[in-house]
Amino acid sequence: MIYAGNFKTNHTRSSTIDYIKELNFGLKDKKEEDKVYIFPPLTAIDFYRGDFTLGVQNAYPIESGAVTGEVGAAQLEEFKINTILIGHSERRELLNETQEFVSKKFNFFKKRGFEIIYCIGEPLEIREKGQDGVIEYLKKQFMGIDIDYSNFMIAYEPIWAIGTGRSATVEEIIATHNKLKELSNRPILYGGSVKETNIAEISSIDSVDGVLVGGASLNADNFLKLILH
Ligand code: PEP
Repeated sequence: MIYAGNFKTNHTRSSTIDYIKELNFGLKDKKEEDKVYIFPPLTAIDFYRGDFTLGVQNAYPIESGAVTGEVGAAQLEEFKINTILIGHSERRELLNETQEFVSKKFNFFKKRGFEIIYCIGEPLEIREKGQDGVIEYLKKQFMGIDIDYSNFMIAYEPIWAIGTGRSATVEEIIATHNKLKELSNRPILYGGSVKETNIAEISSIDSVDGVLVGGASLNADNFLKLILH
């Protein structure tokens, strides 16, 4: 299983250092085949040691240049970062990232060989119309994306399940992941209110290769409970 923790705009450099100490202590008991990723805020990026991969939540598709407030590939290279989240619904919705821009970012970091966790997910009004509409919606989020790229994973994150405490049902996850598996042979993570009380059920689904976790990853002890469940 893959366990990815997205801190979003939480944690500072100092609290990330404490977090990693605690995480590393607990990871001694993790199953060898399991893989852990953490995505702290950019200000907390540094060289950390441990049995996990450090990635970034975002970067701009530029080597370096004039994009005020953004970081590009040169800044990530300094820290040997080569893992990135792309397409998160918060960036699509709050920051108006269009599919065209998201795919530009995907292709830019693909060219540099980055490992990409590519997020897709439907809003509630689409889910309420039924499974066929969901798949149609998700397919549009693959426009411009090379689904044969060998260094990417899909994170299926229904928007209505993110940070709401309401995870998708097992049936919804199975139906959606099975369809996604027909489109791509890359690993598929589920994200959306994964927590201690549902990790066993969600991780036991065959087509779930891992989880992308927001809220329940913010505390190292909680995240470890998911990883070591
Ligand atoms: C996320 O934002 O990627 C996420 C899955 O958040 P949460 O676990 O808090 O629903």
